[in-house]
Amino acid sequence: MESERPPLRLFPLGTDPRRQGCAYWLEMGSHRLLLDCGLPASSLFKALPGIPDAVICSHAHFDHLQGLPAFYRRYPQVPIYATPLTAHLAGGLWERGVWPGYDREIRFPPFRALPFGQAREILPHLMLTFFTAGHLPGAAATLLQNTQTTPAQTCVYTGDCSLASTRFAPGLDLTALRHWQPDVLLIEASLGSTRHPPRRHLENRLLERLISALAAGQTVLFPLPVLGLGQELLFLLKAHHRFTQASQELTVWVAPGLAAGCNLYERLLPYLPEPVR
Ligand SMILES: [Zn+2]
Repeated sequence: MESERPPLRLFPLGTDPRRQGCAYWLEMGSHRLLLDCGLPASSLFKALPGIPDAVICSHAHFDHLQGLPAFYRRYPQVPIYATPLTAHLAGGLWERGVWPGYDREIRFPPFRALPFGQAREILPHLMLTFFTAGHLPGAAATLLQNTQTTPAQTCVYTGDCSLASTRFAPGLDLTALRHWQPDVLLIEASLGSTRHPPRRHLENRLLERLISALAAGQTVLFPLPVLGLGQELLFLLKAHHRFTQASQELTVWVAPGLAAGCNLYERLLPYLPEPVR
């Protein structure tokens, strides 16, 4: 028999990655959670309706965690959960001073790391499980289950996701999530909701355009985030250059943040998919 459903409320504190960043407030029964903490400190504390019992960080992009150092400074008692790889990448970038607003006096919050596919009771009767979300190494889709009810009250938050696998991150596995039938599904809708042409096809087109531009003596500029696409693109260029045994030297300049991201990836090879190691 179904037990009475406890309250379940979800509302956005910020959703626009180009402006304020992403953060969502979730109430499941008596638990209050912050899903991502991408607001700058100035707007974060105005937007927060209270002190959450836990924070869940979906991945190591700036627009999903820029408020964490300030949050941790004010509420050091609140646990922050992420995958081990997100913890390494986020902390590593902070230590290298890559982020806007970096302050060496402020310590980056320690994460409680939870590997993919393992369920953990993070609060009484509240289970957390991470699934691979694609998008970026360590990026997680979050499954939350309030087991005080039968069946459990369930929320799924995909974070930024992609169905297609990349070199550095396996794609979101829908079969792992399909049978949960969540009471609330919060899905990222700029990357995850579109079916793109096959990745290899797009890469070949990009390479053709790049090579013809270089042959015409042009300089090519790619504006990219410091983690994710930048490393994918460098890997693609290197593989192509090697595979085609091109005689022409190719000079690639990268922004300091992107270089720091590459160095971090190199240190985290054991966590990356087998073929790229
Ligand atoms: Zn992202």
